[in-house]
Amino acid sequence: MAARHVIINGPPGSGKGTQAMRVADRLDLKHLSTGDLLREAVAAGTELGKKAEEYMKAGLLVPDEIMLGLIREQFEALEGLGWILDGFPRTLPQAEALAELLEKKCLTIDMVLLIDVDNEEIIGRLTSRRVCSDCKEVYNLSMLPDGDESTCGKCGGKLVTRPDDREETVRRRLKVYEEQTTPVLEFYRKLAGVTEVDGTGDIDAITAEIIRVMR
Ligand code: AMP
Repeated sequence: MAARHVIINGPPGSGKGTQAMRVADRLDLKHLSTGDLLREAVAAGTELGKKAEEYMKAGLLVPDEIMLGLIREQFEALEGLGWILDGFPRTLPQAEALAELLEKKCLTIDMVLLIDVDNEEIIGRLTSRRVCSDCKEVYNLSMLPDGDESTCGKCGGKLVTRPDDREETVRRRLKVYEEQTTPVLEFYRKLAGVTEVDGTGDIDAITAEIIRVMR
């Protein structure tokens, strides 16, 4: 039977968000991205958003107690559903808290996926990413017509660099990943193993490979 309770992880810029969204859509799973939830809270100016914004802009992790509150709330709406958790857990205390939460609900994780991309490729990808400030369409500088790197081809909005995509911040995010999230992968390696997927190359081929390993 296909995996229905899945964690997807990988360094920032590995494409885990894009892949999680595609796979969730194809396999009818709920996509739960803590990064997206936090960005929505920041945009809406909620209490959670105000607390999270400074950490995110600086390329740091949002404190565990905030993340745990958010994830517990989200899990209430997941009763009986399959899900793919994108970007959570990112620290050992988060992984331990998730294990406790799942145990209470008599659930187990079917698969932990790691999207593998090396650091130099990530720095190149993220520093050339641009986002439309209006419709949120994501571009890479290499996709944009010469001479116009500032206008959205879809809605005419202004293209901007995400504050956490500046090179210095990307390097900090990679360091944070190495220090805080690598131990989480070790934790899962010892528990039941981690399935690694190469995150470089054709985006459709990567989606197909993830679906293949999940089936
Ligand atoms: P992402 O879109 O997954 O790269 O997340 C963007 C940012 O949101 C991260 O750099 C963190 O600041 C924050 N964030 C997302 N998920 C978590 C998490 N599980 N724990 C702490 N911070 C998080």
